[in-house]
Amino acid sequence: MNKSWGFGEQQLQALFECLQNNGYTLIGPRLDQGIIKFHPLNDFSELPRGIHSEQTAGNYRLQTTEDGSFFQWLVGPDSFKRYLHPPRHKLFSVKIEEQNFSVIQEETNPAEKLAFWGVRSCDLASLAILDRVLLDDMASDEYYRSRRANLFIVAASCTTSAASCFCTSMGDGPEPRQSYDVLIQEYLKEGKARHIASSGSAAGDRILHNLCDTPADENSVAAYQQQLQHNIEQLNRNRLDTTGLAQTLKQASEHPHWDEIAARCISCANCTMVCPTCFCITTDDRLDLTGEYAERWLTWDSCFNTDFSYIHGGAVRPNTRSQYRHWLTHKISTWHDQFDSSGCVGCGRCITWCPVGIDLRTELKVFQEDLRRD
Ligand code: SF4
Ligand code: SF4
Repeated sequence: MNKSWGFGEQQLQALFECLQNNGYTLIGPRLDQGIIKFHPLNDFSELPRGIHSEQTAGNYRLQTTEDGSFFQWLVGPDSFKRYLHPPRHKLFSVKIEEQNFSVIQEETNPAEKLAFWGVRSCDLASLAILDRVLLDDMASDEYYRSRRANLFIVAASCTTSAASCFCTSMGDGPEPRQSYDVLIQEYLKEGKARHIASSGSAAGDRILHNLCDTPADENSVAAYQQQLQHNIEQLNRNRLDTTGLAQTLKQASEHPHWDEIAARCISCANCTMVCPTCFCITTDDRLDLTGEYAERWLTWDSCFNTDFSYIHGGAVRPNTRSQYRHWLTHKISTWHDQFDSSGCVGCGRCITWCPVGIDLRTELKVFQEDLRRD
């Protein structure tokens, strides 16, 4: 087991600055128009302090406290996905010069080293899912590959959760268990945030050995474990029963409940835009007026857009019923056939950011209860 270190605010700042001094661009949380968004950070003081969040279906509220915490904000609408698989970027441009085409491939900037700050267990699980899709040998995404290769991850465990979180149901949290460099465990004692740090890679180990000299004491570890356990119990109250769920959804393809959901869903695509595992894209071409220069851009797309399923003469999923059914069935069921895992990590973003408050756990329960009765 990796050694755990007592970690104070000074060491947190030193870790932040050490990564900067090693040439990393820090990407982390910042308070932005009432939400937590991930931005490039220049200074440790930009990190939000004492911010907690309340999240239920269609509802997101931040509260400011005096506890000095760095990681109680949970997840916002943003995920780190946008820095590996951005919502929009230029793929290449084409020029006509003396009647010849020349194609200028866009730089993927592989030299840029990114460090993600405050990655939760659900978002780590989502990176593992994106790796399976975007690093696939048959169709790898070079932009994603170049950034992923140089990534340093500072993960954070969750000792609190929102009503929309269900990572324990998907086997992903609330403590990160995979592929991070440094893990920060934050807990509250006497109303103030305390920290423990441990490493998950040789690079993380080197950094922590230089920054830390005091091993975490038993009382701190016990206090952290107690709050973690309390959070697991809390998360289990909002549990989604995943037993046989993939098969249940396949049997439910013609269930009348899809019509009931479609009557509420407004096909806004928010759920796909905030989801850390959705990866669908489209491309658009731009031509200048001379007709001698063109660019091809990649943008995120959504299965809630009717054009997304357009195939020679019509859309195969032309209405909200078929679009929602496709989205949920792919996430929870057919993703297993395609990628050997669920496509959902239980982050709850699609629940919080659905403007009409559709909660996939509630909808799935309707299918489960109905089909089990039959
Ligand atoms: S489907 Fe919803 S809960 Fe699952 S990973 Fe996507 S946004 Fe998170
Ligand atoms: S389920 Fe909610 S967030 Fe998703 S498309 Fe429908 S209304 Fe929008």
